[in-house]
Amino acid sequence: MSATGSSPSSSNSAKRLEGKVALVTGGATGIGEAIVRLFHEHGAKVCIADIQDEAGQQLRDALGGEELGVMFVHCDVTAEEDVSRAVDAAAGRFGALDVMVNNAGITGAKVTDIRNVDFAEVRRVFDINVHGVFLGMKHAARVMIPRKRGSIVSLASVASAIGGMGPHAYTASKHAVVGLTKSVATELGRHGVRVNCVSPYAVPTPLSMPHLPQGARADDALKDFLAFVGGEANLKGVDLMPRDVAQAVLYLASEEARYVSALNLMVDGGFTAVNNNLK
Ligand code: NAD
Repeated sequence: MSATGSSPSSSNSAKRLEGKVALVTGGATGIGEAIVRLFHEHGAKVCIADIQDEAGQQLRDALGGEELGVMFVHCDVTAEEDVSRAVDAAAGRFGALDVMVNNAGITGAKVTDIRNVDFAEVRRVFDINVHGVFLGMKHAARVMIPRKRGSIVSLASVASAIGGMGPHAYTASKHAVVGLTKSVATELGRHGVRVNCVSPYAVPTPLSMPHLPQGARADDALKDFLAFVGGEANLKGVDLMPRDVAQAVLYLASEEARYVSALNLMVDGGFTAVNNNLK
């Protein structure tokens, strides 16, 4: 350790997750896929856990399969046995679990009038976005506590900080992700396990633009999405992309963030700080 506190393993090493094992829920597409790809580039062994078997297996194969440290497990985050099995599969195949990314999430139906909201939809959003994250934290903790280390990173959203950014249930669910993050971080800190979340502004993915035709330009669809969620980007001239979000997750997963816990890291170009008068 030098006088500045840096050590060879915590400085700017090119591969920031070398020797680490990570599990990414919802890792088959969108932001999850970007996280899987970036973690793989940084030397991690990665388990993709998703309900989309074909997309997950394709991504696994595109990255070289289990021989190159990428596996796929079918996992519905609303089913505890699935989450438990995915954690055990990753730790069993690759020897441990260092990083758990609770990324799977849905927006829910875009209904703007609360009188027309189907309550079953509210339950579905909470089941995936909140209960799924809880289960991810619970089973990651099960294998991380005995090893006295680990990093859990969950995907929240700018909707974790303000209202008016999507369906009510989505907003409430993302506020809940921050609550879970803070609460679980207070418990797991004493075991050396860090718990954080990341809150992106709108990113072009299948979630934000489900009907985008293959190969079409994202601009128009993203404009529609932003018109629905009600907010114009604050940072002009920069398009937020899935990889930008993945970079924030990588930071929290890595040793560079070894004293960072209970944080909700906004990746929003300042949006939530300056746009407090949404429609
Ligand atoms: P996406 O729809 O592109 O990908 C989500 C992935 O989760 C898919 O692969 C899907 O199959 C998987 N998934 C859905 N339900 C699942 C379940 N029950 N069990 C396991 N996997 C399941 O979405 P995205 O845009 O990449 O979003 C990823 C996360 O980022 C979500 O939590 C979302 O709320 C959050 N987020 C997205 C945006 C955005 O604009 N795209 C903005 C802020 C936050």
